[in-house]
Amino acid sequence: MTPSIDELAAFCKKKGFVFKTAEIFGGLQGFYDYGPMGVELKNNVKKAFWNDFVTKNEFVVGIDGAIITNPQVWVASEHAEKFSDIMAKCSSCGFNVRVDTLIEDVTGKNVEGESLKEIGKIVKKEKIVCPKCKGILEEPNEFKLMFETNIGPEKNEKSTGYLRPETAQLIFAAFKNVYQTSRVKLPFGIAQVGKAFRNEISPRNFLFRLREFEQFEIEFFTNPEKLNDCPMYDGKAKVNIADKNSFKTVTVDSLLKKKVFASKWHAYWVTAFFNWFVKYGVKEKNLRLQPHSKDQLAHYANACVDIEYKFPFGWKELHGDADRGQFDLGQHQKVSKESLEVFDESVSKKVLPFVAAEPSQGIERALLVLLFDAYFDDKKRGNVVLKLNPLISPLKVAVLPLVKKDGLAEYAKEIFQNLQKRFNAFYDAGGSIGRRYARQDELGTPYCITVDYDSMKDKTVTVRDRDSTKQIRINVDELNTKIWEMIYLGKKFE
Ligand code: ATP
Repeated sequence: MTPSIDELAAFCKKKGFVFKTAEIFGGLQGFYDYGPMGVELKNNVKKAFWNDFVTKNEFVVGIDGAIITNPQVWVASEHAEKFSDIMAKCSSCGFNVRVDTLIEDVTGKNVEGESLKEIGKIVKKEKIVCPKCKGILEEPNEFKLMFETNIGPEKNEKSTGYLRPETAQLIFAAFKNVYQTSRVKLPFGIAQVGKAFRNEISPRNFLFRLREFEQFEIEFFTNPEKLNDCPMYDGKAKVNIADKNSFKTVTVDSLLKKKVFASKWHAYWVTAFFNWFVKYGVKEKNLRLQPHSKDQLAHYANACVDIEYKFPFGWKELHGDADRGQFDLGQHQKVSKESLEVFDESVSKKVLPFVAAEPSQGIERALLVLLFDAYFDDKKRGNVVLKLNPLISPLKVAVLPLVKKDGLAEYAKEIFQNLQKRFNAFYDAGGSIGRRYARQDELGTPYCITVDYDSMKDKTVTVRDRDSTKQIRINVDELNTKIWEMIYLGKKFE
């Protein structure tokens, strides 16, 4: 059984993954701290995205932009003026609620992109009331989501800065420097992972809607005439597409034909992330693509497809990917007055690159879905087993001496220190062996190594596999290599 969001939050707190920020002071809504296990897991997830989509992708390079940048960036991107959500105050209890998501929760209708006036009409027509006290909602208004701050000692209209609400715009702001210094040629992508801040009206559902979170985003630039020159496109690949409350499994080709994707590059990037989640353990039946209809599309986007996950609170956005055309570079060019055109050798002319795809991934939402689908309450074992892909498990291996006496603890410590040179390993000599296995199961540690009396004689140890509980004997001299091959090369446990 999949846990509820509250059960998962309680589990994460109990195991030292994630807890409310500054809980001793009562926490702060929309902000969380990561504990020892959580920081390892989150770093591994970010590393996995980066490895698969930047390091191992010949078309993509990375940057690390500033969190507070020149405010003109947000003028060019239109965030300064338009980045807001629609909010309404309850006339009885004064609670402020984000109205579009409330309408979606109550009626199932997606009202993304609707005007303030239209939303106001829907609230009345559908008799939407305060989710807390059922009171009548006042007329909705727009609420700005940018966190403001003051830069430097002076306080005037020029000193106002913003915490970035997304990582993407820093990529456009750095585009010229990256292009001039990294020998990239169209088509190419620039990626970034890092913090983003949004003053969300109603943060909720644990890590789903936060005020401080992280994103992994890529801007993929092509020549506007070469949107379909994608060597990695696989039209025969299958994906799930939303169909009412469920999904249908169809080919990528069929979706391209129906213009769900704007181009082959767009299709490639959406499917690459869909497959990434499956590779890392998310069940295919919990993933589907949700295209934005024409009236939901932002004015600059040619097409946008979300990847949705079946959360315990419904199908919700896990990932978004829009074809943004020349809007962003065009805007940054206009406001900065710097040309952002590049020379495309293949056609021997200058072009303003086209954003064929903008994969946009929230790290915390990725964490959530990876945790949901790894979580297995094993009634037989009497404990939770976190069946995480070993690549992202916080700990790779735990070393457990059967008993502490007769030199076993010392020998086990030696083995542990040797493993530590290569892996995030853990040494645990306390409690029954069953209890120690259970502790590691709950943290998702793929392999436990038990050092017993025979180990002292023949230099072999027992290696236990987390998911099957099968055990094999391995020679201590081969331990490092074998564990490495199982985790990083996917070799069989035998
Ligand atoms: P929503 O409609 O849920 O507010 P959005 O469409 O505004 O999301 P984008 O601006 O497209 O989201 O952000 C890209 C990705 O960043 C999302 O798919 C999600 O994974 C993540 N994300 C956005 N807002 C938040 C948030 N408040 N908390 C956690 N993750 C977020």
